[in-house]
Amino acid sequence: MDTFEKLSLLTADMKLEVAEDVRPPLAQTCPSFQPAQRGGGCEDPLQGFPISHAVMPNGRRMPILKTLVTSACERNCNYCCFRAGRDFRRVTFKPEEMANAIVKMTERGMIEGAFISSGVAGGGAHTQDRLIAMAEVLRNKLHYRGYLHLKLMPGSEYDQVLRSMQLADRISTNLEGPNSKRLQSLAPQKVFLEELLQPLRWAEQIRRSMPGHLGWNGHWPSTTTQFVVGAVGESDLELLSTTAYLNKNVRLARGYFSGFSPTPDTPFEEKEACNPWREHRLYQASFLLRDYGFDLEELPFEGEGNLPLERDPKLVWAQRNLSEAPLEVNRAGKEQLLRIPGFGPKSVQTILTARRSGLLHSLEDLKALGVTASRAAPFILVNGRRPAVQLSLWP
Ligand code: SF4
Repeated sequence: MDTFEKLSLLTADMKLEVAEDVRPPLAQTCPSFQPAQRGGGCEDPLQGFPISHAVMPNGRRMPILKTLVTSACERNCNYCCFRAGRDFRRVTFKPEEMANAIVKMTERGMIEGAFISSGVAGGGAHTQDRLIAMAEVLRNKLHYRGYLHLKLMPGSEYDQVLRSMQLADRISTNLEGPNSKRLQSLAPQKVFLEELLQPLRWAEQIRRSMPGHLGWNGHWPSTTTQFVVGAVGESDLELLSTTAYLNKNVRLARGYFSGFSPTPDTPFEEKEACNPWREHRLYQASFLLRDYGFDLEELPFEGEGNLPLERDPKLVWAQRNLSEAPLEVNRAGKEQLLRIPGFGPKSVQTILTARRSGLLHSLEDLKALGVTASRAAPFILVNGRRPAVQLSLWP
């Protein structure tokens, strides 16, 4: 098999790994959805090669190669298509081979970056050495300046975390479960605190203790993680508690929620797939925690510790707290405005800026600022009055 045949085999199997991917759960309702595209032209040997997309902080979608250094794995995670003993064709790349493939695809304009992970082969630390070796060839020998996301293997050591941070734009460790108990059911050989959480803690320790000693492009990389959702009975409360802890303690840029989907010939092959609405509500709630000033206790968990599937958690909160006490958009503070459905950080900033020039008199004034006011209408006063549209929207 040549390099690109091997890459095609690997990337096709990486559907469980959503970190970076533009793969929101409700593609049909989300404008940011963009499915994997096919690279190359008709005569191109890379025709049909699957390309993923990463969303940058400014919202731009960047085409990336998302793959593994090896699909060989000695671990036995119950949900994973790469688990030890599963019968399929495994492939492994040498660090130079992978680095050269990334450069070649970049030169052809197919990708602008890469997200590189690996099965665990020869121990987590040994595997991390291979990922670092690949990244060093890319950055130091081939002078690659594109985006690079490196996975931190379970059991990565402090020096490996530091070296990975010096070479990558983003690093991540998949916690998989929200705590030790759930992880034990998902991945019996992984150790939550020592193997998975500790590398994330070290990454934050490095950012804090070496502010002048930065990564390859002058910034320390951001950190993400991923959870498998819906396979072992974990609640939304468990998942979001851990997310809130990570936001606060390791400055998590983003937690990804990968709805479980059964893979044949694994111990979980008979389990039901996760309802995609659950992923969607978890993302909404995690953004409320990260960007909207909500505390975990304010999220509308129901009896079993799960969010209602049928309603946006911010809307539920507003219906309980603002329907009888609407907020005056001319006086409410930033934190209050962020609580109003339909108002995001950008629209709140727009409102705050516009208020310096005078009173807002009606929903039309908000619309003229580019603010989507219809969802907000039942929960606001504009210049002392409930917007007229409210009567038709709010039973
Ligand atoms: S460590 Fe677990 S999740 Fe990762 S590739 Fe191996 S079996 Fe899959």
